[in-house]
Amino acid sequence: MSYVQKVMDSVIQKNPGETEFLQAVKEVLFTLEPVFDQHPEYVRAGILERIVEPERLIIFRVPWIDDSDTVQVNRGFRVQFNGAIGPYKGGLRFHPSVNASIIKFLGFEQIFKNSLTGLPIGGGKGGSDFDPKGKSDIEVMRFCQSFMTELSKYVGADIDVPAGDIGVGAREIGYLFGWYKKLKNSYEGVLTGKGIEYGGSLARTEATGYGLIYFMDELLKSNGKSFNGAKVVISGSGNVAIYAHQKVTELGGKVIAMSDSDGFIYDADGIDLAAVKKIKETERKRIKECTSIVGSTKFYEGCTNIWDIKCDVALPCATQNEIDIVIAKKLVENGCFAVGEGANMPCSIEAIDYFINNKVLFGPAKAANAGGVATSALEMAQNSMRYSWSFEEVDIRLKNIMVNIYNKASEAAKKYGHEGNMVVGANIAGFIKVAEAMLAQGVV
Ligand code: NDP
Repeated sequence: MSYVQKVMDSVIQKNPGETEFLQAVKEVLFTLEPVFDQHPEYVRAGILERIVEPERLIIFRVPWIDDSDTVQVNRGFRVQFNGAIGPYKGGLRFHPSVNASIIKFLGFEQIFKNSLTGLPIGGGKGGSDFDPKGKSDIEVMRFCQSFMTELSKYVGADIDVPAGDIGVGAREIGYLFGWYKKLKNSYEGVLTGKGIEYGGSLARTEATGYGLIYFMDELLKSNGKSFNGAKVVISGSGNVAIYAHQKVTELGGKVIAMSDSDGFIYDADGIDLAAVKKIKETERKRIKECTSIVGSTKFYEGCTNIWDIKCDVALPCATQNEIDIVIAKKLVENGCFAVGEGANMPCSIEAIDYFINNKVLFGPAKAANAGGVATSALEMAQNSMRYSWSFEEVDIRLKNIMVNIYNKASEAAKKYGHEGNMVVGANIAGFIKVAEAMLAQGVV
């Protein structure tokens, strides 16, 4: 039995039933096999055995009172997965599906993603099974205050710096920051994704979506293709999806479909981004309402059916496991030549293998959606300096980071015998930096 298989078996035994976490670990571990042949010192130091074990997993009760004076109880999580290269960094997700397995899969991936950015940030993630949908602003505030009352014991500008993720946007970050400041009497960069008025970075809102397209543009150009004239399907209509749409359109592509968890909208003339922003960002309504703004836009129920639409480029930007092997086959059959993961782990392992075997240009999440956390690290840098850069300065840095990530992943893939395979390249490049730091710091 191979060394990697032995470690995987132990992870399966220690984390029973945690399907998302096991999927994320499996996806990384088997791509690292060539590294251990060249670096036996990593095996001796037990790097792999340590990297799959979170440094700390905090689970806590979050009681709060809703608008009808009823006590509600949610569960809060923070995983501080690996702090070898910097303070723990990773978003908070508020969604009813949140559990330990989902937080651990996200935290594990975050280690490698953060490493790839080249910035000094360790891997963490957190969240709650609280659903902000349909709650009043006051309910969301009460929940955020209760959540932060406990979380504040474990975070800090030099310890652990959370950000947003699904269900956590500017509103939630504002409430969380305000409560941390009150509890600690300290004005520090403990969260990123803050409002511009109180320490946020320009271009953070746009960063994950823009970064995804910068990365994919590099991948397309290196293979003689481009967004110009391409038909693009984007799942989701949240933060990542909206700014991916904006950048695709700037580069001459046409986004013909977007979705939310109810269904998807389709428009052969291109989805009107202003309408999506109005409905989703300003009014917090359902995507089907876009049809009342633009006559040519049609709504269809069932969010996964969005992948039946013929497209050149598919950008899953909603959630994990959106694309399985059946959908992957359909996309390839329909002529899709590139897939970029805006969401975390939106494609199953079988789907990824199918894309790669069928020469689809594939941008894995750890590399392709790293622009958000990279810009969060730029927000931390600006907070430390008590200074802020212009939108253009941040955007240029973001673009450079995404191009560097592309180059690092390509070089690592080539060096370890998998030229062109961005999954292998991103995993290996992300892993080696963390492994070297762990080796240097001894057994901790
Ligand atoms: P948002 O909450 O802003 O938007 C999420 C979107 O995905 C919504 O349209 C939502 O629809 C849809 N969605 C969520 N869950 C499901 C589901 N189970 N089934 C179908 N649709 C769903 O989140 P973000 O845009 O911030 O995040 C999207 C993805 O990108 C996540 O995987 C996240 O981890 C990843 N990501 C985000 C980063 C960021 O900076 N924000 C950084 C890196 C990765 P509905 O409104 O109906 O729930």
